[in-house]
Amino acid sequence: MGALSAVGLQANASKNYDAKLAATKALLTDALASHTNITQASSLGAEDVVITHLLETLKAHADVFVLNTGKLHAETLTLLESSQATSTLSWRVFQPVQEQAIHFVKTNGELAMRESLDLRKSCCHIRKVEPLGRALAGYSAWITGMRAEQSAARADVHAVDTSDAKITKYNPLVDWTWGDVLHYIVENNVPYNALHDKFYPSIGCEPCTRAVSLGEDFRAGRWWWESKEGESAKECGLHVKA
Ligand code: SF4
Repeated sequence: MGALSAVGLQANASKNYDAKLAATKALLTDALASHTNITQASSLGAEDVVITHLLETLKAHADVFVLNTGKLHAETLTLLESSQATSTLSWRVFQPVQEQAIHFVKTNGELAMRESLDLRKSCCHIRKVEPLGRALAGYSAWITGMRAEQSAARADVHAVDTSDAKITKYNPLVDWTWGDVLHYIVENNVPYNALHDKFYPSIGCEPCTRAVSLGEDFRAGRWWWESKEGESAKECGLHVKA
């Protein structure tokens, strides 16, 4: 990353960054002490590489999982490969049930997800939600990179979410800004997804993610063809409460 990369230019720590970082480390330490079976969900986005780096620094017993939907960008797959090769944590990669993914495409077409919200949600269910269930089976806690700033739908995210009695969800970056996240990456020289230098703040599937313009919402590049009233639906089901 050069000083003039998009990531370098947007790295900008908040005034209380040091306090946020200390709180995040304390939360992760507490989560690790409270759970023997704890895992990190990673989309290989900026927030997730920060959390993985923090877990490595803490010599955590947590592992990391990635949902390889079969539709990820080449840049994301490249980072996945290098992360698996160099990380001190163990990585688990989950793929959709191949028969279901093939049947969906055969029946509805390669770009069916753009035809209706129902088809998009069906695709997300096959490629993300069902594999997520397998990824979380047997775990009592998971860690995500969700931040309140990312969208209106995520504004009420809490650092610790116990709304699901079966599994506790930790969101240790809940109050971090995008500038804080990139500051951590630059300061600690953390490898990151090359898509961020192409103005993709949110990392998702290739057919459903585009770059955003200055001033656009963080998740504006996700399912951008869907209407505004579907804003709360701009989630793939991974973080939607029943
Ligand atoms: S983000 Fe798009 S390609 Fe990925 S699972 Fe959802 S609808 Fe399918």
